[in-house]
Amino acid sequence: MNETDAEATSVSSNFVRDIVAEDLAAGRVKSVVTRFPPEPNGYLHIGHAKSICLNFGLAAEFGGRCNLRFDDTNPAKEEQEYIDSIQEDVRWLGFDWGEHLYFASDYFEQLYDWAEHLIQQGKAYVDDLSADEMREFRGTLTEPGKDSPFRERSIDENLDLFRKMRAGKFKEGERVLRAKIDMASGNVNLRDPVLYRILHQSHPRTGDEWYIYPTYDFAHGQSDAIEYISHSVCTLEFADHRPLYDWFIENLPVPSQPKQYEFSRLNLGHTVLSKRALIQLVDEGHVRGWDDPRMPTISGLRRRGIPAASIRDFCARIGVTKQDNVIEMALLDFCVRELLNAGAERRMAVLDPIKVVIENYPEGQSEELEAVNNPEDETAGTRKVPFSRELFIERDDFMEDPPKKFFRLAPGREVRFRYAYFITCNEVIKNDAGEVVELRCTYDPETRGGNAPDGRKVKATIHWVSAEHAVPAEVRLYEPLFTDEEPDITDGLEAALNPDSLKRLTNCRLEPALRDAALGEPVQFERLGYFSLDPDSDGETRIFNRVVALRDSWAKARAKK
Ligand code: ATP
Ligand code: MG
Repeated sequence: MNETDAEATSVSSNFVRDIVAEDLAAGRVKSVVTRFPPEPNGYLHIGHAKSICLNFGLAAEFGGRCNLRFDDTNPAKEEQEYIDSIQEDVRWLGFDWGEHLYFASDYFEQLYDWAEHLIQQGKAYVDDLSADEMREFRGTLTEPGKDSPFRERSIDENLDLFRKMRAGKFKEGERVLRAKIDMASGNVNLRDPVLYRILHQSHPRTGDEWYIYPTYDFAHGQSDAIEYISHSVCTLEFADHRPLYDWFIENLPVPSQPKQYEFSRLNLGHTVLSKRALIQLVDEGHVRGWDDPRMPTISGLRRRGIPAASIRDFCARIGVTKQDNVIEMALLDFCVRELLNAGAERRMAVLDPIKVVIENYPEGQSEELEAVNNPEDETAGTRKVPFSRELFIERDDFMEDPPKKFFRLAPGREVRFRYAYFITCNEVIKNDAGEVVELRCTYDPETRGGNAPDGRKVKATIHWVSAEHAVPAEVRLYEPLFTDEEPDITDGLEAALNPDSLKRLTNCRLEPALRDAALGEPVQFERLGYFSLDPDSDGETRIFNRVVALRDSWAKARAKK
C-alpha cells in the first residue's frame, strides 16, 4: 500500500474531526499537527490502528502533519525491537510521518530543566517516602491524602537532592521528585504526582546517561507542547490526567499549549488488546510470536494476509466516539471479504483430498483448460489449469449415501468439475477400515469447458486439481484465540483460550498456478475462502493461512449453541 491509498481512506465524520474543523474555521489553530505516541513496550495492535488512522487521517484531511513520537520514558520495559516493529507497522498501514520522527527521550534535558524550574518556583519537592508509604499517604477515591513530611523542604535542599538524584548518588527507589499540587484534591492524579524516579537502567536510546527518568505523565504533555501539537488526541483513560497535563502547561514556560481530546478505545471481541496480555500470550508460548496469525497485532494480521486497506476500512467504519463498546471480529472479516472479493484472484485448491480416477480418460494424457482469474474483474484475465486421468476432489464433496439436499458427487450421479467436464461417479473403492479411498468415474468428452451440447443440467459444480500436477501444501485454519466474546483473563489466559484456534491441514493439493503465489497477495481458493502465503513457506513446502472463510461460519456455529 502506498501513501495515496492511505490518503484515499477518508476519515468518517466524528466529534474530534468536528473540533479540528471548528478550530481551523475560527482561527484558533493555524495548522493541524497531531501525533501518534506509542510507548515502545510491545508490538502495535488493531486498537492502535484506530488511533493511527485517526491521527494521520486528520493531518491528511486538513493539510497538516502527524508526528510519530515514541514516549520512551520507561527503559525497564522498552526495547529497540519494539521501536523498529512499530515503524514498520505504521508504514505498512499506509501512513508516513516524513521527517517527523521524535522520541520523548530527545527532550530529557529540556524536561529536566523544567523540573528544576518547578523546584525553583516552590512547585516540586524531593520526597524520601518509600513506595509503600507514598501509597498510604495518597488516600483513596473517597478520602483525601496526607502531606508527606518532606513536602516543605527548602528550594535549595530540593535542588541539591534532585541534582544528586541525577548524578546517580542514590539507589533506585530511594527518592522521587514530586509536583507540589494538592494532596486533598478530588482527582488522585493531582495529589502530588511523581515527576521523576531513580532507575539505574540502560535506555535503548540514551544508554547509561541518565539515572533518573521522567514519568509518562511528566513527559507526555510537555512533549506535545515542544512539538506544537494542535490537537492531542488520546483514549478516555487519560481524561482524568488532563487537569494534571493542564497544570504542567500553566506552570512551565512551554512553547505551546496543546489541548487534549479523548475518544473511546477499540475493544475487539474474542481477543485481548492489552499489551500486558499480548506479551503474556507470547511469553507463555500460547502463540508462536507477536506475528502469529491469530494475534490481533498489526504484524499478526499482516502475516495472516489481511490487507492494510481492510484495516483502514474497518477503522473508518467503527468511527470515533466517547462510548465504550466491543466490536465484533466479524466486522473486520466483512471488510476483508469486501476488498478481496473484488480484487483477489481465484484458484482451485483441495484441502482434504480424495482421489478420483477418470476411467475413460487415456493414461499418460493431459490437457489444459481455461479458468477465469476473477469473475468480478475482467481485466484479471484467465489462466490454464491442467486436467488428467487422476484428480483430487474435496472429501466433503462426495457422499456415498447422500441425503435429499446433497447435490454434489455420489454413486451414479453426474456433476460439473469446474472449467472441465461433466463427470459421473461409477464405483467407490474402500480400504480395509471401510474408508473411501478412491472414486472411479467417467467423463463426457462432449462437455469440455463445463457445458453439455444437449442442454442437460447438473445440480452441482465442484473444484478439483490434477494429481500429477498438484502442488502439495499445508493450510492453516484459524478461529478466534479466545472462546468468549469478552474473555475473562483474571485467573490467567489458559482457561479463556479457545483450544481449537489453530487447525493444520498438512495433506492439501493446489493447482500449479499457486506455486507462484506471493506473500501479501491473498487469493480465493474457490468455494473455500481467502488464503495467503505464509512466510514459513519454502521451495519444498507451501504454507497458506486462511485469511477469512467465504461466509461467517463461526457466527453460524455459535448461533447453533
Ligand atoms: P500501555 O497500557 O502499555 O500504555 P497502550 O495500549 O496505551 O498500552 P501506547 O503505546 O501507550 O499503548 O498507545 C499509543 C496510543 O495508542 C495511545 O495514544 C493510546 O491511547 C492509543 N491506543 C492504545 N490502545 C488503543 C485502543 N485499544 N484503541 C484506540 N487507541 C488505542
Ligand atoms: Mg499507554
